[in-house]
Amino acid sequence: MSTAYIIVASIPSIRCLILQMRHPFVGFMRILVLLVFFYVCCPSTNASTKTEKTLAIIKPDGLLGNHTDDIKRKILENGFSIFREKIVQLDEATVKRFYAEHSAKSFFSSLIKYMTSGPALVMVLEKDNAIADWRALMGPTDAKKAKITHPHSIRAKCGLDTEKNCVHGSDSTKSAQREIFFFFKELSADVIADHDEL
Ligand code: GDP
Repeated sequence: MSTAYIIVASIPSIRCLILQMRHPFVGFMRILVLLVFFYVCCPSTNASTKTEKTLAIIKPDGLLGNHTDDIKRKILENGFSIFREKIVQLDEATVKRFYAEHSAKSFFSSLIKYMTSGPALVMVLEKDNAIADWRALMGPTDAKKAKITHPHSIRAKCGLDTEKNCVHGSDSTKSAQREIFFFFKELSADVIADHDEL
């Protein structure tokens, strides 16, 4: 069989192939392949989710006032997972270190008394945007104001006033890292700062 014959004989099948490529299904498959390529190769089109961790505390008034189950239910209903939790009885020295930024405030000694008045539940919460979302769920510092401005917040439901406000939450990424390590020394820095790509 000569080469010329093979070329001539295969012309119909080449034409057939070209016609097939024009078929709408082939066009659709090409677009699909392109989309898969961009999804895999371009980070900007890759819908990744950043998971954040924050420190939450149910303070002694929350724990002793039997609000723990309701607060934990609210935490889970709002899409957080509880990554770590433990009950602690804080002593004066620990509260002084934890709230060191408030050491010059007039309410500091009262805050120490409050935070050492009974056991507290410390938790590491995890979810997308956990730091801001937990602060929003807690409500404003002053529980009295929270009852008016944020009636569905945790502080509105279980807090009493500016001091006895039932729960704590880290206020920034830096605080979250410091506070999580403060209570959970066994967690390595990369686990605490972890932003899981899902
Ligand atoms: P938070 O981030 O909303 O907890 O508020 P801060 O970091 O400003 O204060 C820490 C904690 O100190 C609060 O959660 C309260 O328990 C207490 N606290 C804050 N402001 C006052 C105040 O003006 N008076 C009293 N007695 N306690 C306060």
